[in-house]
Amino acid sequence: MKINIIIGDITESDCDAIVNAANKELRGGSGVCGAIFKKAGWDILQKECYEKGPIKTGEAIETKGYNIKAKYIIHTAGPIYFNYSKEESKRLLSNSYLNSMKLADKLGLKSIAFPSISTGVYGYPIEEASKIALETIYNYKPETLELVEIVCFDKNTFNEYNKNAR
Ligand code: ADP
Repeated sequence: MKINIIIGDITESDCDAIVNAANKELRGGSGVCGAIFKKAGWDILQKECYEKGPIKTGEAIETKGYNIKAKYIIHTAGPIYFNYSKEESKRLLSNSYLNSMKLADKLGLKSIAFPSISTGVYGYPIEEASKIALETIYNYKPETLELVEIVCFDKNTFNEYNKNAR
């Protein structure tokens, strides 16, 4: 499985699925979530999200991509950093990546694009979060997945992921 770290806007991704850094309620929000909802079509995506949600932290569910190029949007709720112990945050963040990749494999997908989950409003320090994300992705044994892209929205995030890239 190839792993690419790139700078860009995840809503423009050519991957089969893009991951949304969602909240547990699957309510359209700010940050990457807002960008995805806006591009997909807010009301139609919200409708499917409310039918499938709420989810627990670390879980993942899929919706259609609607007006986004990707066939699926995989919604996962990363941890709000200050709500948990360091160890629990780590476990939950890793679960978000793991469960999203498992779901992509279950759907028979070849490629998935991740944003930097929890490192925006949810306050996860990027130095720690990037290590956990990459460790989880490197350790994953894919079934149909051939490509994982980490789409960084800013240079600092991109640099931090690259520090921990193999
Ligand atoms: P969380 O609530 O999980 O912290 P945020 O959306 O606040 O999620 O931030 C997660 C990351 O997504 C941040 O690094 C933010 O800069 C980034 N981001 C925001 N918009 C986009 C986008 N369109 N594409 C990719 N990443 C984005």
